[in-house]
This record gives sequence, C-alpha cells and structure tokens, in this order.
Amino acid sequence: MPITFEILEKDIAGRLGRLKAGKRSVRTPALLPVVNPHLQPVTAGEMQAMGAEGLITNAYIFSRSEDFRERALSLGLHRVLGFDGLIMTDSGSFQLSVYGEVEITNMETLWFQQSIGSDIFVPLDIPTPPDADRAQAEKELGLTMARLREAKELLGPDAPLAGPVQGGRFQDLREQAGREVGELGFSFCPIGAVVPLMEAYRYGELVEVVTASKKGIPASSCVHLFGAGHPAMFALAVAMGCDIFDSAAYALYARERRYLTPSGSAKLDELQELPCPCRICRTHSAEELRTSADCERLLALHNLQVSLAEISRIRQAIQDGVLWELVDERCRSHPQLLKGYRALLNHAGSLEASDRVSKRRFFYRGSESCARTEVIRYHALIERILLPPRVLVSMDGRELPGFDLALPFRPPFGPYPPELGETFPIGQSEIPDWDEAMVSAGCRGIRRLIESHPGCRVAISCPDEWIGVVRKEVPGAEVIF
Ligand SMILES: [Zn+2]
Repeated sequence: MPITFEILEKDIAGRLGRLKAGKRSVRTPALLPVVNPHLQPVTAGEMQAMGAEGLITNAYIFSRSEDFRERALSLGLHRVLGFDGLIMTDSGSFQLSVYGEVEITNMETLWFQQSIGSDIFVPLDIPTPPDADRAQAEKELGLTMARLREAKELLGPDAPLAGPVQGGRFQDLREQAGREVGELGFSFCPIGAVVPLMEAYRYGELVEVVTASKKGIPASSCVHLFGAGHPAMFALAVAMGCDIFDSAAYALYARERRYLTPSGSAKLDELQELPCPCRICRTHSAEELRTSADCERLLALHNLQVSLAEISRIRQAIQDGVLWELVDERCRSHPQLLKGYRALLNHAGSLEASDRVSKRRFFYRGSESCARTEVIRYHALIERILLPPRVLVSMDGRELPGFDLALPFRPPFGPYPPELGETFPIGQSEIPDWDEAMVSAGCRGIRRLIESHPGCRVAISCPDEWIGVVRKEVPGAEVIF
C-alpha cells in the first residue's frame, strides 16, 4: 500500500492533514516520539495513552540487537513495542552521521524494515552535515538519490517508502533533491541532516534549507523535519510547511535533567516551581521531582506531554487561522528563533500563494506583523480596486469636498473601500495605537493604489504627526493637512 497524504486545512504554508501508511494513519502536524528499545524511559503504550498516534524507532538498533532482532522478526515491531499506531523506522543514517559508518547495505536495511512490519521504511540515505563543502554535498546527494531509485525499483512503486531530501546547506541542491524525490514518486519526504543546525540554534539557516527543499518537493507531499526536536520550534517549522516531527528531545533533555516548556527549557535543579498543567507537575513539587528515584522517567513523561500538547495547540491554530500569532509568540522566546522568524517573513511573498483566504483574526504584534502574508496579499488586491476619478485616502477620518470617494485607512494594510470593512483582513484586524512600522506599511498600500491607478487623482488627508512618514513612503503625493 502506498503512503497517502490528504490536506484538510491550511494556514501560511502549514497544513492540517492525514498521513496514511497501510491501514494506519496519523493526523498532522504530528510528533512521532523516538523509541530506543534499549533505554526507554516512557513505554510506547504510555505514549499511545498520551495521544501519540505514531512513533519512530531505529531499525538499525533492532537489526544489531541480540535481544530484539529475532523477536522483531517473529512477532513484528508493533507487538514487540506494544503499540498499534503508525510505526516509522529509520535506517541507520543517524548512526552513519554520528559514527561515520554502518555495517548494512541499503537493500538489507529496507528488507529488514519490511520484515519487521514497519509502516514507513527509510532508505539508507547519506546525511550531509551543514558544514560540508559543495563537492561533498553533491557526491553524497548523488549516492542518496541512487539508493532511493534502487529502493523504488526493488520494492515497487507502492512500497511505503520515505524519500529523504539531502543537499547540505546548499539551497539549489536541496531544491533539486526535493524535485527529484517528487519525480521518483515519493509522497513522504523527510528533510534530512538538519539536526546540527537545530542543536546550534542556527534557525535562520534552517529556514533557508527547509524553504529551498519545499520549493522542490511537490506541495501535495507530506514533509517530515527529521530530528526536530524542541517544541519551541514546532510552530515555526509548521509555518514553513513541515508536517511531521520526531522527538528524542523529551528523553535526551530528561537525561540531562532539563525541563521542557513550550518556549524553551530550564534546568530542573534551578526550578522552584513546575509551571505546567500535566499530571506529573501537578502531583509533585520541584523538590519532590528533583529527589525522586524516578526523576528521569517522570521528567521524560512531562517533556513528552509538553511536546504533544504543543502539536495540539498548533493544530488548533491552523484550524482557526491564527498560526502567525503562535509563530510570533514562540519565536520571541529566543533571539535565534526570532532570526528564523524574520528569515521566514522574508519568504512571505512566496508563502502568500499557499496561505488561506480568510482567517479568524489578524492580531498586530509589532513590526514583524507588517511583513505577514495577509499584508502582502492585501497590497496586491489594492491594484484591483475600481476607483472613480477623484479619491481621498482619509487617514484621519475627514471627508472633504471635491472628491468622489473617501477611502478609510487601516494600517498596516492601507486604504480600503468601505465594503471591505467587514471582511478579512480589514474587519478582523486588531491593532493597538498606530506605530511607525504599521503606518509605513499602510502607506506602501497607498503608494500601490496610486501607482496602479494612474488616471485617478489620489489625495491623502493625514494627521499632522504622520506627515513625515507619508512623505517618505509616498513621495510626491498630494497631502492635505
Ligand atoms: Zn508537566
């Protein structure tokens, strides 16, 4: 049975969807917790009880394990782990990236993954680290693509195969890889080898790598951001169009006695309070958690619940069309996330094409909001407004004689015909007192109106305090004050 992906709702480039592999499915965006059978603080059954619909485990570990290899082959992965949701297996690429070599071939791992009843198999791709030079990235991408072709040829077009997208930090290679993976018929595409970027908080570069990959990957494909990780970056990644995450972070952080929150992490030893509504945090004090013999496991349970709850929050945000607000909130929790957010806003022009038409609201949250897709889309719409010969843009609400029409002004969008006053985004936008960034953005809307209606006389009625901004953004305009 092939892997299928159905998109149900969109916001920015994020999607609510359903990923199906065989008879199992997960709602997306989804977090697949990483399960290592040898050291597992949380059982797969507990994960399912917490709402995890899928998980990911490493086929290489199973294939090398005396304890688990035969059991997985005879009973199947689902029975060995006690989990009847979707199980994806990784091939050993991660071991390859850490240890430099693995003792298994591409087809050996694929046959093994098939034999243990995995729902989604991953070929043995080569994870090119972000700091590799171009020659290495090209060579390794060539090898990865050859292995993907081999997998498709030998297992057939309907095998539930993931098609990893590699290419290091080179955007053209990532885009090319995404396109080729799509052409080979892969509908599930992990973007690989981005863990070093995330570990080093290089979120600006992460956005460029993901955006380039997404340009090549067909829009209908499900995208997995391999190795992500921390709940604070899920919203940003979903906004770029990533649908699946896998998290070992819940366990790795717990081992280091770190307490995850939706916006960051804290050292358990420095906490006086446990600011979380989960059962662990409500039934333990920080001191009790610290001194518990079961500390690592309890912390892992908390960390996983925080991560899964963030995924639920993101799904609801997409449903409501308020993903930008959530991205804005999360990305202000760390300067490097803010850098990633700004990098994403630089791509708002291309994101606009995939964004939905109507949303519940537009909350202005500072100058970054001026670069959002809704503002870009509204400015494009301004060109199509039909105007009479003499038009007043009334920033101060005045109506003056000598004009056929007065257009009200709503920053950061700009002038609008009264009949658009109730529709999205004008009617659903909430803004505080005007600031320079939003008035500047609104004035760019006025400029767009003037440039696209050369036969009209457009004058601006402007409050005194904004004359300087109007003159700067709409040079040469007729200003009445
Ligand atoms: Zn908690």
